[in-house]
Amino acid sequence: MTAFDTKLKNDHCFIDGNWVPPVDGQKIELFDPSFGTKLCDIAQGTSEDIDLAVDAAQNALDGDWGQMTAAERGRLISKIGMEILNRIDWLAELEARDVGKPLTQARNDAIALARYMEFYGGAADKIHGQTIPYMQGYNVYTLREPHGVTGHIVPWNYPMQIIGRSVGAALTMGNACVLKPAEEACLTALAFAKIADECGLPKGALNVVPGYGHEAGAALTSHKGVNHISFTGSVATGVKVQQAASENIVPVTLELGGKSPQIVFNDADIDRALPFLVNAGIQNAGQTCSAASRILVERGVYDDVVNRMSEAYRKLSVGPAMGDHSLGPLVSKRQKEIVEGFLSAAETGDITISAQGHFTDDLPEDGAYVLPTLLKDVSPDHPLAKDEIFGPVQVIIPFDGEEEAISIANGTDYGLVAGVWTENGGRQMRMAKAIKSGQIFINNYGAGGGVELPFGGHGKSGHGREKGFEALYGFSTLKTVANWHG
Ligand code: NAD
Repeated sequence: MTAFDTKLKNDHCFIDGNWVPPVDGQKIELFDPSFGTKLCDIAQGTSEDIDLAVDAAQNALDGDWGQMTAAERGRLISKIGMEILNRIDWLAELEARDVGKPLTQARNDAIALARYMEFYGGAADKIHGQTIPYMQGYNVYTLREPHGVTGHIVPWNYPMQIIGRSVGAALTMGNACVLKPAEEACLTALAFAKIADECGLPKGALNVVPGYGHEAGAALTSHKGVNHISFTGSVATGVKVQQAASENIVPVTLELGGKSPQIVFNDADIDRALPFLVNAGIQNAGQTCSAASRILVERGVYDDVVNRMSEAYRKLSVGPAMGDHSLGPLVSKRQKEIVEGFLSAAETGDITISAQGHFTDDLPEDGAYVLPTLLKDVSPDHPLAKDEIFGPVQVIIPFDGEEEAISIANGTDYGLVAGVWTENGGRQMRMAKAIKSGQIFINNYGAGGGVELPFGGHGKSGHGREKGFEALYGFSTLKTVANWHG
C-alpha cells in the first residue's frame, strides 16, 4: 500500500495552497472497514482552520483565481480531469481502503470524478447571460457571476463523485471553495486537492479542512464569509445546515436521503430489468442515496420477479474491498449496527427473508460486514418500506394497477429517484408525471453516475439541483444590468 507515504499528507489540512497541520494539532483516527484496523490519522479541523480556509478563499477571489477567464478556468479544470485519469489506480485504492468500496466500484467513482471535471471544464465558457428587450433608450443584459466563497460538506459514501459534482461545478463558475469531507472518509478529498494543486489551481481556490461535522462542518455552515453552501448528507444534518445558513441568508443546496422505488409492471421486460433491480440495491453495499431500496411489483409477475431476484442475491459475495467482491463491508461498525437493527426488526416483525448473499471463506473477523438481504411481501406502511436503511437491504412490495403503484411510490417522505419498467408508452408518461421525484428512469435505472443529468430531491430528499448544466446555474448568481444610453 503506497497511499500513506509521502504522496499524501493525510493528517494535514490544505489551505491557501499549503499543507498545514490543524491549528490545535488534534487528529481523528481513520479505520479500514474491511479489517477493522486503523488506517491512518486525519486532521481534526476546527473553526480556526475554517476561518483560515475562508480567508484564503476570499483572497483567491481577489487575486489570480478571480482574474482568470472562463476559458482559462475550463482548460485548468479539464486538465485536472485528465490527471485524475492518470492516477486512477491510486485514487481507487485510497477509496477502497478508506470506505470499503470494492475496487472496481472505487475505480468507477474515480472515472466519474474525472468525467465531472471533463464535462464542467468543457462547459466553463458556454454559460453566459442574456440581453433583454426593454424600454426605448436602454440596453439590458444579465451577467452570470460566481457566488463567491462556497462551502461544500460531503458524506462518506461517494466522496469522489460528490466532490466532482459540487466542487467541480463551483470552481467552473469561478467560486473559491472550502471543502469539509466526512470524518469517516477523507483521503480522496485530500488527493483531489493535491492533484488540483499540481495541475496549477491558484492557491486558495480550493481549501480542504477535514474534521467532525459538529466542529468544522458547523463552523463552515455558519461562517459569515461563506456565500453558498452545498450539503450532501442526512436529513437530520440537512436541517441544521439550513438553519445555520438562514442566519446569514445564504443559499443552500441540500442533497439528502432517499427511499427510491423501482416499479415493475406486468408487461415489463424482466430480463432487462433484473440487473438494474438488484444492482441499484446492493451497489456500494446499499449505502447510496439513490439506492432502489423498494421494489414494487405488479401482482401478475410478482412471484417471477421475487424468484429471479432471489436467485441473483444468492450469488452475491461479500468480502474485503481489495478482493473486489460483489459487496465490500459497510463504512463502519456503527453503520453495521444500524443496518443490523433494521434486519432484526424484520425478524421480529414476521417479514420473510426471500434470499441473502454469502460471505467469502476468509472474511476478516473485525470487518463491518452484513449480508445483502432481500425481503418480500413487505407492507408499504412498515418502517422497512419507509425509512432509509442505508445498507444492502431491499424490500419487495406487491401492487395491483397504476393507481396503487403511484400511491405506494409517493408514500414516503422522500423523492430522489424512481424507476418504471413497462412497455406501455402512455403509462410511461403518466407515471413520469405522477411520481414525485427528482429523477425518473424509464426502463433503466441510474443510481449515481450520469454527470450530464440534473439531480436532486423532492420532499425530504432535499432541494436544489447538482450535476449537468443545472449545477452551473446553481453555483452562480444572476445580475441584471439596465443601461440607459439615451
Ligand atoms: P451526515 O449528515 O451524518 O454527514 C454528512 C456530512 O455532514 C459529513 O461531512 C459530516 O461531518 C457533516 N456534518 C455532520 N454534522 C454537521 C453539522 N452539524 N454541521 C455541518 N456539517 C455536519 O450523513 P452521512 O451519514 O455521512 O451520509 C449518509 C446520508 O447522506 C444518507 O442519508 C444519504 O442518503 C445521504 N446522501 C445523499 C446524497 C444525495 O445526493 N442526495 C448522496 C450521498 C449521501
